[in-house]
Amino acid sequence: MMVTTKLGIHDKLPLTCSRTGTCCHGKLVLLNPWELVCLAREKKITTREFRDIYCEFGGIRLRFDGKIGWKGQKACSQYVDNFGCSVHLGRPLSCRLYPLGRQIQSEEVHYIYEGSEFPCLEGCPEVSELPFMSVGEYLQGQETDKFEKAQDEYLNLMQNLADIAFVLLLDTGLAESGDNKTLLLWRKMGNELPEVLADRIGQEWLDYLMLPEISDDLENPISFARKHNELLQLKAQEKFGSLQTNQELHDASVLIMGVALHLARGIGANPQILAEHWIDTAKKYGALE
Ligand code: SF4
Ligand code: SF4
Repeated sequence: MMVTTKLGIHDKLPLTCSRTGTCCHGKLVLLNPWELVCLAREKKITTREFRDIYCEFGGIRLRFDGKIGWKGQKACSQYVDNFGCSVHLGRPLSCRLYPLGRQIQSEEVHYIYEGSEFPCLEGCPEVSELPFMSVGEYLQGQETDKFEKAQDEYLNLMQNLADIAFVLLLDTGLAESGDNKTLLLWRKMGNELPEVLADRIGQEWLDYLMLPEISDDLENPISFARKHNELLQLKAQEKFGSLQTNQELHDASVLIMGVALHLARGIGANPQILAEHWIDTAKKYGALE
C-alpha cells in the first residue's frame, strides 16, 4: 500500500519550486471538464481541439507525449523545453498542487504527499536551499481555490450521474424483475482500463461529459459545473425518459454508471472502490447480483 504523509495547513516545507520541470515528465495529469476549458482558453484553441490534440480517453487525461527528459520519461504535451509550461495560467489542479495531493475523507479535506520523503527532493534536491513556506501559503500562491471548488462540484455531479443509474435500476421495476446483470456490469466497469471504459461509453456521451455547450460562467467553476449538471440531467431525461424494456433500462443504467465512473477517474477518485460502494448501496435497496 502506498505510504502517504498527511500535512497540516501550517506545516512548513521546501515548497519553493526550482522550476527545472522534472515533475512535468512521466506523470498522470487528470482533468475535469472545467479544467479542460481552462487549458483550451490558455492555448487559444477550442475545447474540442484541445481535447482531440492533447488529451486521452475522451479528455480526462493530458497526453504525455513530449520529448524524453528526466529519468528517460516523456514530457507533458504542454511542456516546452527551456521554457516550461505553455499553459501555466490555465494549468489544472494537480499541477498547481504538486508535490502535494488533496484527499477528501468524511467531507474533510486533507493535503498529503506520497511517500515518506518529500517528493521534490528526488529530482530537485536544491529545493532544500530555497525558502520554506507553509502548505497554506503554497496553496494561496498557486491559486488553487477555484480549482478545488471545481473538483468538489464535479464530485457532486458524479454522484448525481450515479443516482440516475440507481433510479434506472431500482425505480423502474428492473431490479424487481430479478435482474442480476446490471450490478455485474457496474463492477466490471469499475475494473476496466480507461480506454476500454471510454470505448464502452462511446463518443456521444464522452462529448456530453467533457465538452458541455456552456459559453458563459467560464470564470466561475461552481456555476459552470452546475450548468453542466443540468445539461446532463436533461440529456438523460431525453434519452432514458421513455424506455420500455428491461434490456433498455439495463443498458441505460450501465451506460450512465460508466459515465459516472469515467468522470470519477478524471477527478482523481478510484472507480473500483466507488463501483463497489455503489453496488453495496444498490443491494441494500433490493438489487441482485
Ligand atoms: S519537482 Fe518540485 S521543485 Fe522540481 S520542478 Fe517539480 S514542483 Fe518544482
Ligand atoms: S500542464 Fe503544465 S505544469 Fe502541468 S504537467 Fe503539463 S507542462 Fe507541467
